[in-house]
Amino acid sequence: MEKDKAGSGASGRNGSMCTLGITISPAEARKHYGQPRARDLYDAFREAVDLAEELTVKEQIDCDSHRVGRLGVAFKPQHFESIRAKQRDLGDCFGHDTTLLSKSDLRAEPGSDYYHGALLDPLSAHLHVGKYDHGLAEAAELAGAQIHERKRRHRAAPPPRGFPRRAPARHHPRHAGHGGHRRLHRQGHALVPQAATWARRGPGSSSPTTAWSCPPIDYVWGGMVGFSFDRVPHAGEDNGLYYSMGYCGHGIQMATYMGRAMAEVMDGHPQANPMRGFGFPEVPVPFYNGTAWFLPFAGAYYKAKDRLR
Ligand SMILES: Cc1cc2nc3c(=O)[nH]c(=O)nc-3n(C[C@H](O)[C@H](O)[C@H](O)COP(=O)(O)OP(=O)(O)OC[C@H]3O[C@@H](n4cnc5c(N)ncnc54)[C@H](O)[C@@H]3O)c2cc1C
Repeated sequence: MEKDKAGSGASGRNGSMCTLGITISPAEARKHYGQPRARDLYDAFREAVDLAEELTVKEQIDCDSHRVGRLGVAFKPQHFESIRAKQRDLGDCFGHDTTLLSKSDLRAEPGSDYYHGALLDPLSAHLHVGKYDHGLAEAAELAGAQIHERKRRHRAAPPPRGFPRRAPARHHPRHAGHGGHRRLHRQGHALVPQAATWARRGPGSSSPTTAWSCPPIDYVWGGMVGFSFDRVPHAGEDNGLYYSMGYCGHGIQMATYMGRAMAEVMDGHPQANPMRGFGFPEVPVPFYNGTAWFLPFAGAYYKAKDRLR
């Protein structure tokens, strides 16, 4: 049941980055859930990228899917030390081999002096999400699913604890800021989806990747990204309502993967849900009812922290 058209939500308009890894650091995941559960979580995210790729091959979805890799850059010298520790942790405890690039490596490859090193993950992918969504919808229909477009579903049960109880505030693309990472544009002009609210940037502005001679930004669009407070997805059943949400910027692969997992849960296999038992921590902010009024303050705090450290 889709109130608009299939793919008209975030899934059809996001940043196209199908990246490995969870939103929290491996060390944070271990601290909160213990090493075995943290590893399961990490593996689920990795399998999800594989699943998205497998589906494009099996269903012959022509969506320009490539394992282009992902570069996580060190903005300050001390950040390089933390990505060095992360690289060791990923290799030793999460079975994920990444490459550490020094400042001089970066000078040679993307040709920049701007950052202090980077972590290169070779397995992350990039795809055209509009084509991917369209292909998935076609494959689902061929398999016998019925997609009902322009059918608004009225709420049958309140949303689970910890999620907004009313529609989020309007989000104007010109007032949107940067998602945490982006693909390099080596030539042509840039199309940039944006998904946070504490920086302002619009068409005609330059991007942080000017460090790599990024072309000027021609078009900017935006949308809401659902971040759960603990920054892991939540899925389960609440009062007869099955839900899966809070992919925290990893929704391309996780929405695909969790769709399959939740179908198995509905089919009587609750253990198929890799997010089972996580609970729903509420946002510990007074008077929070879905409008994140505190985000600009959080942004200012982290900006100040960046300046000091
Ligand atoms: C600007 C932006 C950039 C992003 N970049 C990335 C990225 O690079 N990589 C990544 O992995 N993720 C990214 N994300 C996140 C990712 O797009 C989402 O996590 C994912 O698309 C969520 O999928 P979904 O199916 O839960 O929601 P959606 O794709 O939004 O689907 C929900 C659908 O429900 C419909 N709907 C709503 N209410 C009703 C109702 N009452 N009745 C019937 N239908 C209804 C909506 O029309 C919509 O089509 C980004 C998101 C945004 C907004």
